[in-house]
Amino acid sequence: MAREIALEIVEKAASLNFERCGIIEVDRMREYGAKVNERIARFPESAGMYRRFLSLAEPDRDFPWARSVVACSWRHGVYRVPEGLAGLIGKSYLFDVRRGRNSEGYRARTEFERCMTKDLGLRVASSHDYGITSCRWAAFASGIGTIRRNNFFYGDHGSHYSLMVFLIDEAMEYTCTPTQKPCSDNCNLCVKNCPTGALAEPYATCGVACVSYLTNRAPDNGAFERYSPKIGSWIYGCDVCQDVCPFNRGEWSEDKDFPGLEELSASISLEKIVTMDYAYLREMIAPKFWYIEIEDLWKWKRNALAAMRNTGHKDYEAALAAALQDDDERIRNLAKRELAAKD
Ligand code: SF4
Ligand code: SF4
Repeated sequence: MAREIALEIVEKAASLNFERCGIIEVDRMREYGAKVNERIARFPESAGMYRRFLSLAEPDRDFPWARSVVACSWRHGVYRVPEGLAGLIGKSYLFDVRRGRNSEGYRARTEFERCMTKDLGLRVASSHDYGITSCRWAAFASGIGTIRRNNFFYGDHGSHYSLMVFLIDEAMEYTCTPTQKPCSDNCNLCVKNCPTGALAEPYATCGVACVSYLTNRAPDNGAFERYSPKIGSWIYGCDVCQDVCPFNRGEWSEDKDFPGLEELSASISLEKIVTMDYAYLREMIAPKFWYIEIEDLWKWKRNALAAMRNTGHKDYEAALAAALQDDDERIRNLAKRELAAKD
């Protein structure tokens, strides 16, 4: 019976255009906890950040009825990257389906969950935002793809996927055999090109030094300041270790427009962010790029000012002058400091 239900789940996922779907028993997530502990031992400076992930290895603590984890991969490497946003905002955030209610991925997820609950009679738990267990580990353990040396999940078309996980109350398993070739022994491109050295060695990322974390979720402005000269043009996320990877070559097809992104992108550039009204940041930018909390909107401008400085941006002077009048004292102080450094 469990096998039949597993097959129905996998078939439903395929019919909704998920690239792959696998199912593992919930105990398999314990292996993820061991990996997190290895990471904490390797990067004690990131311990505070990684300890928060340990609970993801035991999703059945919060959901004692959970028996299995369903993992699905949704390919987002098919959308046009709006002009001017490449190198500023990480692609996984541009095409984030988690809160993108009009996106195909969001709708597929909703229908998939409805089917498991209503048609198959399963008890299901999922979370749109951060996941209730490790999406990447569940996807890897179920064999729907692999994890490469840059620590990203790779499916049949490189690393550009949204991963989704669902807890269900029946014990079952449906695993796949990954088809991806391993990284070449001689390849070190991701480690070599990581701008902050966060990817210190294959499979070993110091989370608190990663540009993705520094530009959005990091609570510690001091860490951002320390790494800021190395962050380049990124203001939210970072794609470097994926962009340089040979297994991503030719894997982005740019066939479709992601709902609402083209219109929104017209309001995003380094100078537009620095001079942006906070109400606009709150109402238009924050709902899509929600890793920067509403109370931290000033960080958008901090990041954009740093990117301007790092890239020798043409409107840096004008932006600094505007930033001297900013509503937030932290931005005014940053602008003063930058101007003083120029004199
Ligand atoms: S996302 Fe950027 S900063 Fe983070 S490990 Fe990859 S290259 Fe380094
Ligand atoms: S850049 Fe090279 S080493 Fe890094 S993930 Fe890609 S193939 Fe593997």
